[in-house]
Amino acid sequence: MYEKDFPILKQKVNRKRLIYLDNAATSQKPSQVIQAMNDFYEKDNANVHRGLHELSMRSSFAYEKAHEIVGNFINASEEEIIFTKGTTESLNLLAYTLTKSLKKGDEIILTEMEHHSNIVPWTELAKEKGIKIKVIPLKDYQLDLKKFKLLLTKKTKIVSLTHISNVLGTINPIKEIIKISHKYKALVIIDAAQSISHMKIDVKELDCDFLAFSGHKMFGPTGIGVLYGKKKLLEKLPPFQFGGGMIKEVSFNKTTFNDLPWKFEAGTPNIAEAIGLVKAIEYINKIGLENIQAHNQELTNYAIERLSKIKDLKIIGPKDNQLGVISFYIKDIHPHDVSEFLNGEGIAIRSGNHCAMPLMNILKIQGTNRISLQIYNTTKDIDALIIALNKVKEIFNGWRRRNLQRKHIGSL
Ligand code: PLP
Repeated sequence: MYEKDFPILKQKVNRKRLIYLDNAATSQKPSQVIQAMNDFYEKDNANVHRGLHELSMRSSFAYEKAHEIVGNFINASEEEIIFTKGTTESLNLLAYTLTKSLKKGDEIILTEMEHHSNIVPWTELAKEKGIKIKVIPLKDYQLDLKKFKLLLTKKTKIVSLTHISNVLGTINPIKEIIKISHKYKALVIIDAAQSISHMKIDVKELDCDFLAFSGHKMFGPTGIGVLYGKKKLLEKLPPFQFGGGMIKEVSFNKTTFNDLPWKFEAGTPNIAEAIGLVKAIEYINKIGLENIQAHNQELTNYAIERLSKIKDLKIIGPKDNQLGVISFYIKDIHPHDVSEFLNGEGIAIRSGNHCAMPLMNILKIQGTNRISLQIYNTTKDIDALIIALNKVKEIFNGWRRRNLQRKHIGSL
């Protein structure tokens, strides 16, 4: 029903209808997002906050308004919305600015299911400052909350975790984790890269301290991401980058910084991308996030049910607490071979470690195949996937049988 809104989905790949099941990597863009960015460059393009001419006023207004619209989307104020390049930059911003006030022996808690972008910024800076990194372990592909409680101490300053795992599809009980962490006065950062387009997020209701997400995973363009932070916390943080736009006054002796959110937005921002993101939010709001979640949950359950019936296919995920993302592998077939074969059938899926090498090591696997779903996917897509996966199995089993026969004949 929604596929008609996405021009890219009208094409054929390898002479087959394109079935796009790689939405956790990036989602496709509806026409209004593409059109709005095009319109901006054709009609309004100018730099923001600088000129007093008509075009600059138009682009400044649209860019500033974008903060307000994104704020409304997650129940935050416009001052609490900082535009970044994406989730990765949002998390780096936090790692650089928050660790400045930490000292040797302080502790940061992460989880075993984090994406590299919520591991490496912390581990690299922790090394420099002697900060201890602790990791919440998994039990049955979910966070072990009992063990989490044992990790918390008076020295825990930050708990940073993903809302939905980009590998397992697990939905983490973030509200509970935030509540427990706050008892220890630890700040909680939520990586909402995978959840933002699947679930309604209300930062006030969650009471998270910071939240990070990317525009391109929620029908918006690449090059724009969001960092939400509670106003009182953002006010206390030092700037991340220095330059134009983020200052009030500059001399060679002293610089005073701009108000929020501009203090954190140095240089010319991604204006067209912010405008595209606004259109993506309008698109989501028109459908309703509850409807998107219901559709994606139903389709996730359907896909899990159908995949579970394929012999020798193992799903890597909790199954009953999973949304939008399903990882699996087929015994004795390399995940890259599976994805390459599916590409020939016009089906786009992901294979590999999904930027989660620590998780792969813990699970003792090299990689998985991953399908990830969105509003334009249907049961028809899943049915086509199942047929294709059965074909892969047939072909690889055929090869294996022939190889065995050859070996047998050779030894006669
Ligand atoms: N966190 C999670 C859970 C992700 O899935 C991803 C991307 O796949 C990221 C962070 C990084 O997002 P980006 O590459 O848009 O910065």
